[in-house]
Amino acid sequence: MNFKDYIRVVEDFPQPGISFKDITTLLKNGEAYHQAIEEMRKLVKDLKIDVIAGPEARGFVVGAPLAYALGVGFVPIRKKGKLPYNTIEARYDLEYGKDVLAVHSDAIEKGQNVLIADDLLATGGTIATCVDLVEKLGGNVVGAAFLIELSELQGRNKLPNINVFSLLTY
Ligand code: IMP
Repeated sequence: MNFKDYIRVVEDFPQPGISFKDITTLLKNGEAYHQAIEEMRKLVKDLKIDVIAGPEARGFVVGAPLAYALGVGFVPIRKKGKLPYNTIEARYDLEYGKDVLAVHSDAIEKGQNVLIADDLLATGGTIATCVDLVEKLGGNVVGAAFLIELSELQGRNKLPNINVFSLLTY
């Protein structure tokens, strides 16, 4: 399946000059969504994973079904102020903007092997922050998996010690 056929590219969203990869057109197609998650599962199947962590909101759309397919747990990483229990937080820069991410302080046990998952790797700021949060909780990041990698933005350089897996590259 050529997954790129199912991804809509929207120019100048959310700001002039940004070529936004819209995955909603893939998600609404049951076969394309299923196959994409299945191909991602194959990319990471040899890793020893205890839990997948994914950032709000599109990281849930990719990370949760991947966790389900692998039979492991899922940990949501959310914007500050959304999680009900004790959290740890980290500030981060986006391709366009700034924010604070948070995770429950008991979400990951020391020594657990964690795969981080998101829809898209751009500058790497979001995932570097997720790595930071997971490592602060004592988790061992075994990799980061993406549906899409924007290679020009060299997000991999922000993740020097992380195994990066991406299904599609633009
Ligand atoms: P980064 O922190 O620069 O790597 O940006 C990655 C985050 O921004 C991901 O959580 C994406 O959901 C979002 N993002 C950035 N660019 C795009 C895009 O073109 N399409 C969809 N999401 C994007």
